[in-house]
Amino acid sequence: MSLKYRYIITFIILAAAVFFWSKSINAQNTIYFNGENITEKISTVNVKDELLVKATDLAEMLDADLKWQPALKLLEMEADDVKIKLMANSSYIQIKNDAIRTKAGLQLIDNQAYLPLAKAIEAFGYLLEFQRDKEELYIFQPETTISNVSWQEDGNQLQIEMDEITPYRVLHSDDGKELTVEIDKAEIDEEFSDNISNNNYYLKVENVPDKALLRLIIRSRNSIPFKIDGGVYEKEDALVLSFLPQLKKLHIKDDNTFAVEATGEIPDADIEYLPNSQKMIIDIPSVVIGEYELDIKENSFIKNVDVKQHSLDPVILRLEVETEDDHLLQPLNNYKDQKNNTLSFKEGEKTVIRDLAYESGQLRFKSTAHIDPETFLLSDPPRLVINLFNAQRGEDLSDEIKLDDSMLKSIRTARFDDRTVRLVADLEDLTGYQISEKQQDGYFYYTVDFQNKFSKVSSDETADFQNLNISLTGNTDYEVKKFTHPHRIVIDVKNAYNNLNELDLPENNGLIKEIRSSNYELEGEKVTRLVFELEEYFSHTVNKSDEGRLINIALAKNADVTPDEPFLMAAPKNNLIIIDAGHGGFDPGAIGHSGLEEKIPNLEIAKKLAEILEEEGQKALLTRNEDTFLSLQKRVNIANESNAELFVSIHANSINNKTAGGVETYYNGSHKDSRLFAEKVHDKLYRSLGIIDRGIKKDNFYVIKYTEMPSILIETAFLSNPKEEKLLSSPDFHTKVAVLIADGIIDYLRENGGR
Ligand code: ZN
Repeated sequence: MSLKYRYIITFIILAAAVFFWSKSINAQNTIYFNGENITEKISTVNVKDELLVKATDLAEMLDADLKWQPALKLLEMEADDVKIKLMANSSYIQIKNDAIRTKAGLQLIDNQAYLPLAKAIEAFGYLLEFQRDKEELYIFQPETTISNVSWQEDGNQLQIEMDEITPYRVLHSDDGKELTVEIDKAEIDEEFSDNISNNNYYLKVENVPDKALLRLIIRSRNSIPFKIDGGVYEKEDALVLSFLPQLKKLHIKDDNTFAVEATGEIPDADIEYLPNSQKMIIDIPSVVIGEYELDIKENSFIKNVDVKQHSLDPVILRLEVETEDDHLLQPLNNYKDQKNNTLSFKEGEKTVIRDLAYESGQLRFKSTAHIDPETFLLSDPPRLVINLFNAQRGEDLSDEIKLDDSMLKSIRTARFDDRTVRLVADLEDLTGYQISEKQQDGYFYYTVDFQNKFSKVSSDETADFQNLNISLTGNTDYEVKKFTHPHRIVIDVKNAYNNLNELDLPENNGLIKEIRSSNYELEGEKVTRLVFELEEYFSHTVNKSDEGRLINIALAKNADVTPDEPFLMAAPKNNLIIIDAGHGGFDPGAIGHSGLEEKIPNLEIAKKLAEILEEEGQKALLTRNEDTFLSLQKRVNIANESNAELFVSIHANSINNKTAGGVETYYNGSHKDSRLFAEKVHDKLYRSLGIIDRGIKKDNFYVIKYTEMPSILIETAFLSNPKEEKLLSSPDFHTKVAVLIADGIIDYLRENGGR
C-alpha cells in the first residue's frame, strides 16, 4: 500500500470521528523541521503550558500512520516501528511498554485531536531545541553523533569521530586562521571530548538548529595549514582533515649540526647561496610557519636565521641563514632523517680544488669534499662554465692553462665570489660534455668528457615532407650530402664518437629504405658517416638550429612539393610588440626530466601573452604561433623588418643541477633601453612568480643581440628542476607568467613609450 493511500484511509477514519475546523489556531512559535520553517503548515496550540500539535499534521510531518478508535477515544500513531498511543482525558503517552506523563495529554479541540509535540516527537527519535529568546523551536532527527575530536599523526591530522558520515563542508577563512567543519544532522555526544584545544588552537562547537547542522570551528593565532586539495578523507567512523607540516624547531644539535624540524614530512628544499654575501636561502615547499622554537645560541657558524612564509600559493617556507665570516652551511649528505621530518646542515668545509689538468678530450680535477658542480654552455664565445660552490683554489691551480687542442683553447680558473670557484673551458666550438665523479683515497675526482656524439636520430612526417631529425651533443663540423645510385642522404660528422648503435634509430618506412653508419678518416680527421638510403627521391632542404646541433632534413614526398622557406608572417608596422616563442618544430629546446620539451611552454606562454596584450589594446605579433621551426635569423628579421617597438623572447632554462631554479631576464646592450625594459618586466616576474629571483643578466643571445629595438629574453623557470618542470607544464603557470610579462611591458610603455 502506498503511503499516500494509507494516509487517505487514516484521514477518512479521523474525519469520521471529528469535524473539520478550518481556522488555524497557532501558538506564537516559529517551528523548524529538519531545517525547514513549517510554522505555516501545521496547527499548534498551547494547553496547560504545553505545546500541542494537530495529530494529522504531525502524522504528515513524520510520514506516520494514524488510527482513531472513536469508541475508546484512542489515538494510535505509528512510524518506523515506533508506535505511540494516547487516550482522551489521559495525560499519558504510551510508548512500547512505557507510559510517559505529559501536562496536557491528548486534547480534542474543535473536533480535532491535538497531542503534546515534544514528547511525541522525541518518542520517534527526533531532537527538539527551543530558543526561548526567539520563540523558535527546532525539530530534527540527528543521523550522527560526534564523540571526539583529536589530533593524529603528530598534529598533522585532525580526526572527528562520528557514528556515520553525513553531508559536510569544510570552510577556510580568508586569513587562514579559522577552519569550520559543518556537519549536517549531527549532534554532540554526551561524553564528547575536545582533545584539540591547546596553546595554538581553540575549538568552538556551534549548534545551528535552524539548518539542522553542527559547526566545529577551529581557530588559531596562526594560519591553519589545511590542505585545500585532498585535505579531507572519510573513514568508516571518522572524518579526517589533513594539514601541511609546520615548522617546529630550528636548533643546533649536540653534534653541532643545524636541524630544521617540521611536524611532518618535508619535501626537498631549494638551497641557494647568495653571491657575495654570507647568506643562504633555504626554500622549503609545502611547509607552513606554525609555532616554532628557534635556538641557535652558542654556535660558531650561524649568525642569524630569518624565517618567513614566502608564499601561500604555492606554499613555500623561506629560511634566510646568515653565517659568520668565513663560515658556511651545507646540507649533510643525507640531510633528511628517516621520517623525513628534519633537514640537517653542517658547518661547511671549504673544498680545495687541486690537480686541474686536460688531456685528449678530458678535463680532470680533484677536490677534498663532495661538490655538485653547476655547469652551463655559453655560445659567444663558445665556453663551458663550471661553478664549484663552497670551494677554494689549491696553491697549484693556475689562472689559465693554454692548450693546443682541436676542442679546447684554454682553461681558466677564477674565484667567482667568496664561496665559488669558477672553471671556464674555452672551446673551439660548442661541444657536448659529460661530467662524472669518483671517490678514492679521501678525494673526490671529477672528469669532464668533451666529445661530440649523436644524441637523437628520429623521423616524422607532414603532408608534404618526411623529416629526418638528427641532433648532436655539440657543435662540430659536418656536411649533408646527396648521392645517387641508389639515392641516399649522407651526413658526415667530424670528430664525433660513433654511438649510433646505442640509439633508437627510426624504422625503415616511407622514403627511408635503410639507415647505416660507418667511420673513416679524411685528411687525418675522424669522420662518422650516417647514411639514409632512400626508396625514392624528389628534393630536400636542410634546416639547422641550436648553433647547428640540431639538423633537419626535409625530404619532399612527391615532385609537386618545392621545399620552401618556413612561413613568414605578414607584419604590420609600428607600435608593435614582437613575442618570440623560443625553439619549435624539430628543435625542442631543453628537455625536462619527465620529458617536457621547452618549445611547448614557450609557445603557450607566448600565445597567452599576445592575447593579454591585445586585450590591453596593444598590437602583438608572434614569430611563430604553432609548433614550427624558425631560424634565429628569421625571428630577428621579423622584428627588424616590421619596425617593431619591443621584442620579447620566451624560453625556459636548463642546467646540470636539479636543485637550481628561478626566473631570469636577459638583455643585450645593442639598444640603450633594453636594460630598462628588462628591469620593468623582471620586477613583475620576480616579485610574484613564487620562484627564486636569479636577476637581470646581460648576454649575447642572437635574438636580443641583433634586434634593433629594446629586446629581452626571459628564462621563465628551469626545466631541469623537476618542481619547475611541473610548473612549466601547468596552464595556470603559463597564464601567471604571461600576465606578469604583460604588466611589465605596459609599465615600460607607460613610462617610455609615450602611452
Ligand atoms: Zn631556450
